[in-house]
Amino acid sequence: MLNSLKKKSSQAVFVNRNNQIPAIPAIKLNKLTLVLLACFASLLLLAFAIPPSKPIQTHKNIQLQMPVQPLLSLVASNPEDETIWQNLVIKKGQTLSSIFDDLDLSQTLLYNIIHINKDAKQLTKIYPGATIAFARDKKGGFSKLKYRVSETQELVVKQIDSSLSTEMIVHATESQVQTANGTITGSLFNAGKKSGLTDAMVMKLASIFAWDIDFVLDIRQGDTFSLIYEKIYQNGEFLRDGRVIAASFTNRGDTYKAVSYDDGNGWSYYNPDGRNMKKAFLRAPLNFSYISSNFNPKRFHPVQKRVKAHRGIDYAAPRGTPVFAAGNGKVIKAGYNKYNGNYVFIKHPSGIVTKYLHLHKRKVKRGKSVKQGQTIGTVGSTGMVTGAHLHYEFVLNGVHRNPRTVKLPKASPLAKSKLQPYKLYATPLFSQLDSISVNKVALQKTTHNKES
Ligand SMILES: [Zn+2]
Repeated sequence: MLNSLKKKSSQAVFVNRNNQIPAIPAIKLNKLTLVLLACFASLLLLAFAIPPSKPIQTHKNIQLQMPVQPLLSLVASNPEDETIWQNLVIKKGQTLSSIFDDLDLSQTLLYNIIHINKDAKQLTKIYPGATIAFARDKKGGFSKLKYRVSETQELVVKQIDSSLSTEMIVHATESQVQTANGTITGSLFNAGKKSGLTDAMVMKLASIFAWDIDFVLDIRQGDTFSLIYEKIYQNGEFLRDGRVIAASFTNRGDTYKAVSYDDGNGWSYYNPDGRNMKKAFLRAPLNFSYISSNFNPKRFHPVQKRVKAHRGIDYAAPRGTPVFAAGNGKVIKAGYNKYNGNYVFIKHPSGIVTKYLHLHKRKVKRGKSVKQGQTIGTVGSTGMVTGAHLHYEFVLNGVHRNPRTVKLPKASPLAKSKLQPYKLYATPLFSQLDSISVNKVALQKTTHNKES
């Protein structure tokens, strides 16, 4: 207790002293000032001797110590090497040439650096948001610069006795395999967060099952997921998410499972039968992430589920949300009328036509071929509507069908010669997925017993 109090007050005094610093040089130390200072100091001591009724709010003080938006920061990155690096984050509109100007470095130097070799030429590809760092020699001239060329490569340019050279430093990454599972109670993103997944990983997970599950309208409370995935680390620190190695998703009682596998033509996801997860049509022609991040998931409660008599599905979504072609095909109509607003119709193989109405903008023209997942327009409220939404229709041989439930031909399984090695690889992963979800159920039961 005493210890913690001590810590608190010393911290507070420290912060306060810091705030006083700018005032001190202005004060001439005559007798009167000394007396005033002594009075002030004792007042300060009194103030901190009395325990404050509220916890001391250091938040404000800390903010005062922070420079506003540091554009330049000076960092000695390595204590052994005393190089002081000046880190610059490249802003929109900035060029290497303007940066050299700003730093009083000559254009000749820049020219010479870029022409050292192929590695140095990478500097011409700098982009806003990237970081470039400079170091000076004792006379203030150029000595080094470093620039992260890629996730694993860092270019260092050095000048020693007016001769320039480069070095490419490799920052190796390593991947760690992790497992996670979750049950949806609110939104998929919330469930993901509770299971330690980033939003990006949740989107990766959903994209695996986008041909089977409509993540906009069909996600329900009680849906579950399990996954085995990679996390990428660099120098012992988390860098980014890696691949999803295997995943399962149970939606309204139906379980879908997939394993990532390279059959020799690149990586793809396959189900336990060795069929590619990709099918001719996506279940929803827009990305759920736009909707769940901006809209209350309760909007999509079954009661409000809208498969109306008007033979289409309405996806309430913010204006500007990209709308995808549900499958490969050709644009047969793209236009405007007062009922449909901006609309796009796409003809696909096997007598299927998909229709997208009330678009804010059309992004394709009549006669164009489109690929599955390609953006063909954005959600809007054009035509006879009350609010921004996408009206989506799926027509098979002239008959309207529900795109979320219509049976679509399955992808053909891997060739026999590839099926055996696939099963050898995938079977243990599928059982691991099962054991992850089983553990979860067991865990829930234990907690329940404790509570009761
Ligand atoms: Zn509609």
